[in-house]
Amino acid sequence: DGSLEETVDLGDDRTSKEEQDTGDLRLLARQNYLSRREIQKIEALRKDLLLLEEDVKKYGWEALTQRERDDIALKRELVELFEKKESDPEVGFKLQDDYIDGKGKIDVGRKRQALSNRDDYFQKRKTPKQQVWEERQLQKAIREEGTDEIAVPDSDKYEFVFDNDAAVEFTQEEEDDILPEKDAEYENLLAEKLEIEENRVRSLQETRKLLPVYQYRDDLLRAIRENQILIIVGETGSGKTTQLPQYLVEDGYTEAGKLQIAVTQPRRVAATSVASRVADEMNVVLGNEVGYSIRFEDKTNGKTILKYMTDGMLLREVLVDPELKKYSCVMIDEAHERTLATDILLGLLKDILLHRKDLKLLVSSATMNAAKFSHFFNGCPIFNVPGRRYPVDIHYTLQPEANYLQAAISTIFQIHTSQPLPGDILVFLTGQEEIESARQKIEEIAGKVSSSIAPMILAPIYANLPQEQQELIFLKTPSNSRKIVLATNIAETSLTIDGIKFVIDPGYVKENSFVPSTGMTQLVTVPCSRASVDQRAGRAGRVGPGKCYRLFTKWSYYNELELMPKPEILRTNLSSVVLLLLSLGISDLINFPMLDKPSISSLTSSLEDLYLLGALNSKGKITRLGRIMCEFPCEPQFAKVIHTSATHDQCKGVLEECVDTVAMLHEAMSLFAGQKEQSSEFLGEVSSDHMLYLQIYQEWRDYNYSRAWCRDHKLQYKTLCRVRNIRNQLWNCAEKLGLVAMNEIAKRQEVDVAEKLPIKLTKCFIAGFPTNIAQLGTTGYRTVGKKSTSGLNVYVHPSSILNKQLRDSARKPSKYVLYQTLMLTSREFMRDCIPIYDDAWLLEMIPQVFKRKA
Ligand code: ADP
Ligand code: MG
Repeated sequence: DGSLEETVDLGDDRTSKEEQDTGDLRLLARQNYLSRREIQKIEALRKDLLLLEEDVKKYGWEALTQRERDDIALKRELVELFEKKESDPEVGFKLQDDYIDGKGKIDVGRKRQALSNRDDYFQKRKTPKQQVWEERQLQKAIREEGTDEIAVPDSDKYEFVFDNDAAVEFTQEEEDDILPEKDAEYENLLAEKLEIEENRVRSLQETRKLLPVYQYRDDLLRAIRENQILIIVGETGSGKTTQLPQYLVEDGYTEAGKLQIAVTQPRRVAATSVASRVADEMNVVLGNEVGYSIRFEDKTNGKTILKYMTDGMLLREVLVDPELKKYSCVMIDEAHERTLATDILLGLLKDILLHRKDLKLLVSSATMNAAKFSHFFNGCPIFNVPGRRYPVDIHYTLQPEANYLQAAISTIFQIHTSQPLPGDILVFLTGQEEIESARQKIEEIAGKVSSSIAPMILAPIYANLPQEQQELIFLKTPSNSRKIVLATNIAETSLTIDGIKFVIDPGYVKENSFVPSTGMTQLVTVPCSRASVDQRAGRAGRVGPGKCYRLFTKWSYYNELELMPKPEILRTNLSSVVLLLLSLGISDLINFPMLDKPSISSLTSSLEDLYLLGALNSKGKITRLGRIMCEFPCEPQFAKVIHTSATHDQCKGVLEECVDTVAMLHEAMSLFAGQKEQSSEFLGEVSSDHMLYLQIYQEWRDYNYSRAWCRDHKLQYKTLCRVRNIRNQLWNCAEKLGLVAMNEIAKRQEVDVAEKLPIKLTKCFIAGFPTNIAQLGTTGYRTVGKKSTSGLNVYVHPSSILNKQLRDSARKPSKYVLYQTLMLTSREFMRDCIPIYDDAWLLEMIPQVFKRKA
């Protein structure tokens, strides 16, 4: 009935006093996204609204005429729209055209269309506040079933006019958008742009000279000339990754384009982001002289002399070019991370360097374990680049925190509201899901208190984040606001973000953990090492004295944390590396030079895995199938799935579907914009997560890889594009190996392929993942493992379609389940599952595992 509370706080809930206090800040923030004219418009509207609302307070809603009420409602809506645009650059609508017809009625059809015109960027960034707004709009629309307009009550009795005081014109173009009419003006504009660009390049060059390594440039180059192997140690951010390779180019190591320099990174994001930065500094187009190569994406060409790549990619190159002949220098960067690929590369390089006396090896590392590398390379020299680091105050919690995510979020607001600007915050979280959920919570809180605090810029960074969004973390923070970087371990050493003054460290990291006795790899969240948390703290002291808030106790730091992180080689399944070494002719795995030797049991376990897959024969020699698996740019298990789908008597003919599914599984973690179930609703009944992925991919392809289709189904368009790319590479590989041709023949002989598809697909995955199977028992599912008798209690992950099936239909759980990954969070979860209804499939596909139990 229009009571006062209801009317006063709609739209803008700030009082005029607060409005003044925060007005300046908001004006600044707003200028990013609103044109000057729009700011004037919104100010005029707001002022007008304020007066009207004072009237409402004074005289009551009842005293107004219907027309005045409608006027208020419409103005509120306009203010709200503007505010939305203000907070998001992608909301690019023009008000009058899109929303209001000649009579001042709001045209819902057009409004909806305008909303859907925005790309999925907006969907991803949608804040709860915006969601609420959209839902409200939608409800309004639905209420007026049948018509396509929101009917304003009694609207036929009057004509809508805008209040003249507001003097708002909504369709005019922004002045800046209008192109100058005269040529001279146009040329001036160009000259101006050119000058800006020149200044930018000049300032980049000057910045280069300010980095700590610059002082040591000549000493470094001399040391490299005099030694074949050099370990380089320096504080993060001193310029090792971006500067050293450039010095090498400047010193002529690429022989005018004949040879290349390879720089490896443990992480994809680091490789791409650093390459793009260096291309900028060298003032070349990324992909020409400076490029990057990561799995499934190669951005290099014939001109490339400086190549940033993941360590895994260089490892694959050794397969093709065992002496790495096209390189004059290899820099193994971030060696302290001790990834599996880095460790193996170092072992291989030790041998390659003996044959190639002209090849230079640089191993760069944060301060921890430099001596170990030197020792590994027979006491080669260590070059230390002294860095600058300001003192960092360390704060611990007094009691252990039960919920570190919650604690991290409160700490963010605590810092933000109590510490002066500037000073950005870096928060270390364990992964994408955690980061996204934190972002959502922070936005929710910030949305409620936005009028009383300085603007916060949330900048997430994790491996699967689309590249354009990655760049957000490097943008300079406006002086009135604070940047909050929500990062995974990647910000520990690989990426340096300027301006960080506060670090919040819950002290956890997500890593693979392999248990040889059960033969299982799990993704687990574990406490960091002391070396890691010290690194993290150091990130706060780059621009000035900083503070680090550790969300664990001092006691825990000294008594519970390991000294050093555990190298990956000691905690992961080695089968793909073992296969690679065997294919290189290295069969004496025990004596292969390694910084840390994996346990015999873990080596045996991976040999056993490879034997089960048919990659090795009973004498431990690599088979023809094993060599085929090496060709595929994916884990041997997936290669086996693909191979089976084209060749096995019981399965052949489904190569295409298997390749699609395998590609989808590579990106499954970042596929859904919302809940997985929401997307599956559209697709009807599916029998497994794998079939769901396959159907999604196929339908997307049928819709011509449409972006709009993704948005409608709450799927990430960019992720699907990556899937398409992976799929094509796997397909090309299959084609090269003759699998496509074999599959074609099989398809021609087969009838009703479509009907048999789910079973065939299941069988292919059984062949590829013979050890990823759990059996239903009295206490639920339990892993069968390799030969273990005990196994582990496991649960279907809440996101799995299997869960939904059990809930919705009266279907009994299947006797067996095949899972892709095990994840330990609150419980031991199986992610991405296929039910196996018939044990005969197991006997048929993997008799080497299941005959005994039958
Ligand atoms: P290191 O490898 O020794 O840790 P880097 O070479 O990665 O150091 O970084 C040197 C400096 O370059 C950093 O301090 C940072 O200021 C700057 N920098 C690196 N990458 C970027 C980027 N993508 N955008 C802006 N600045 C960057
Ligand atoms: Mg670096």
